[in-house]
Amino acid sequence: MSDIRFDNRVAIVTGAGVGLGRSHALGLAARGAKVVVNDLGVSRDGTGTSSDAALSVVDEIKAMGGEAMAHGADVSDDDAVKDMIAEAMDAWGRIDICVNNAGILMDKTFAKMEMAAFRKVVDVHLIGSANVAHACWPIMRAQKYGRVVLTSSASGLYGNFGQSNYGAAKAAMLGLMNILHMEGARDNIRVNVLAPTAATRMTADLLPEAAQELLAPETITPGLLYLVSEDAPSQMILGAGAGSYAETRVYETQGITLIGGENTPEAVAARFEEIRDPHDQQQLGDAFGQTKKYALNAAKAKGLKLDW
Ligand code: NAD
Repeated sequence: MSDIRFDNRVAIVTGAGVGLGRSHALGLAARGAKVVVNDLGVSRDGTGTSSDAALSVVDEIKAMGGEAMAHGADVSDDDAVKDMIAEAMDAWGRIDICVNNAGILMDKTFAKMEMAAFRKVVDVHLIGSANVAHACWPIMRAQKYGRVVLTSSASGLYGNFGQSNYGAAKAAMLGLMNILHMEGARDNIRVNVLAPTAATRMTADLLPEAAQELLAPETITPGLLYLVSEDAPSQMILGAGAGSYAETRVYETQGITLIGGENTPEAVAARFEEIRDPHDQQQLGDAFGQTKKYALNAAKAKGLKLDW
């Protein structure tokens, strides 16, 4: 297998001043990409701003002979994002890779959470990712080439106590990926989700010390690099951490069909185990896959012919 390279490719990595984003930016640059190192330079909960971290990653890239520029856009600010994309286009004339990684935490139980904190976290993770991907989109379409990664989390995919805002925003990455994958396919734009688990300042106080070394951000970046490579898959959720890689998928069970007078809450309760039975579960291709399945089930149960 030939080496994965990014020569003549331009990549944007958001939140690239520290942690996972820094590791991704360095990994891309080491394999030839020109990198926009975006970072607002905030603390873990999104407060304060500083350009120091982004500038120091740019220095690291330049020191290894690479090309990079820093930009301090707040990803949740559409105008600032447009300015960043315009600067990248002025300098390098294309954008091939968009790694949405910037993020903050404002954890509290739902009972104690102010809606402002809910909104803020959704703004940075979900709206921020959409802002950056949206600004790159027409460029990638015109180039007929684009690779987009959205950063999710096990918190969104599986749940984590105290993270209703963060988990909701991270689960939304799955929905955004599904649609962008479909809409981007004809222009060779591939869209994937990375679900990392790493020892960074975001998780510093949550991980046992011995696990921190194993979970270094650099153990995840090879997976990210594959997701934005020329032969990347699309519509994949790649779990990554400490060198482990796995795919998360959404399946639907075969289920049951209740027709007419049979369709009662009691019947749903009585057949709940059958509804949940994973035997014969399937991945559905798109939203209408579900609609079609249910309409065909009902037609069959009623002895009707439905050509679909
Ligand atoms: P980190 O706190 O080390 O780094 C996040 C970076 O994002 C910081 O440099 C910060 O300044 C920047 N940032 C925050 N808000 C921004 C904004 N509005 N605009 C631009 N930059 C902004 O975090 P990390 O652990 O490296 O996490 C990176 C991504 O991975 C995040 O999206 C996070 O939610 C996700 N993630 C991390 C873990 C983990 O275990 N560390 C697990 C699951 C998901």
